[in-house]
Amino acid sequence: MNMVPADMKPAGASSPDIAGNTVSPPLPVLQLVGVRKMFKDFAAVERIDLDIREGEFLTIVGPSGSGKTTLLRMLAGMESPSEGNITLRGRRINDVAPNERPTCLVFQSLALFPHMTVGRNIEFALKVRGLAPAERKRRALELMAMMRLPEGHYGRNVMQCSGGEKQRVALARAFAYDPDILFFDEPLSALDYKLKKALEKELKDLHKESGKTFVYITHSLEEAMVMSDRIGVMRAGRLVQVGTPEEIYTKPADRFVSEFVGEVNVLTATLGTDGAWTTPQSTAPLTLVLPERLKGSREVAIVVRPEFLRFVERPEEADNCMSGILYNEYSLGSRVQYQVRVGASVMLAEVSRGLGRTAAIDQPVLVGWDAKNAIVVEV
Ligand code: ADP
Ligand code: MG
Repeated sequence: MNMVPADMKPAGASSPDIAGNTVSPPLPVLQLVGVRKMFKDFAAVERIDLDIREGEFLTIVGPSGSGKTTLLRMLAGMESPSEGNITLRGRRINDVAPNERPTCLVFQSLALFPHMTVGRNIEFALKVRGLAPAERKRRALELMAMMRLPEGHYGRNVMQCSGGEKQRVALARAFAYDPDILFFDEPLSALDYKLKKALEKELKDLHKESGKTFVYITHSLEEAMVMSDRIGVMRAGRLVQVGTPEEIYTKPADRFVSEFVGEVNVLTATLGTDGAWTTPQSTAPLTLVLPERLKGSREVAIVVRPEFLRFVERPEEADNCMSGILYNEYSLGSRVQYQVRVGASVMLAEVSRGLGRTAAIDQPVLVGWDAKNAIVVEV
């Protein structure tokens, strides 16, 4: 990666305001500079720079093994970085123990105490803080109400609760510590789809109501898109892009991010000695907008989202055009997805129901896209 998104620049850089005075942006709540984690000679996390803002919902996404948990464990104090610094409101905390940080981690496994009641699980944190029994119970019931757990569950063994209820107990327990920052390591991954969707919304509301900083980890970009103010994408220990869900979707930094964001068409284009860009899927030279940072490249990847690939009658109707065979169609509810075979590749086009194909299955079709709707990234 040769680009550094604005979000990944170290904080504290000052800039003049309208009146010409120097204004400093607010100090990030957590700042990572050059943070690296080695396990023997393997780098699980590779020199990450990241500012986490006070009160934001930041989600780190990436495939399994990309270093998300290791990163979070360093933030929570369960691992110390091999290199670099982590600061909390300006104070270096590399080697500060987890219980001496104003943070709390909700694990993927939830890590509830199986032999205890719901109430005692939640009260554990309050007991540690030295609250009297009556006060502990009052606060536990308050937290249960906040998590929409029925009051009657207070005395129930936690193992008799459903998956969704256990999840709420784990959240209530985390909130009982009253941390400034909450870390979540794939807490919803074991739940079924419907419950997951409901809890995603609740977590987002909880974030808003509590005003706390949430750092959330998931391998599901869909989950990240729903909840987050900002998303960081990890790949093989590196943070490859940080941005709003909108930025990640519309301006992916590279081919990996664009493919991670969803089903996309990716074409490899090569610059010929005649100055024309071509791809194996099309006979005509391509029209493309090359971003500044890729000027000088001789090979690029062109990402075309299915919603920007459309059927055309004549090649002139779109900047770029490919001929193929209509292969299959799938209903997506209000939209229809078409598969078009172009040479050895399968292209996806998605159109609103009613604006669909004019050709029959197994018949030749033309599909096209406009240069302004394609994203050109590094191969
Ligand atoms: P993720 O949470 O994104 O799935 P992890 O942070 O758990 O990824 O792991 C990243 C990489 O580091 C993996 O290859 C994993 O096997 C390795 N790893 C994690 N923890 C250890 C450890 N304690 N010792 C050695 N290797 C580890
Ligand atoms: Mg993990």
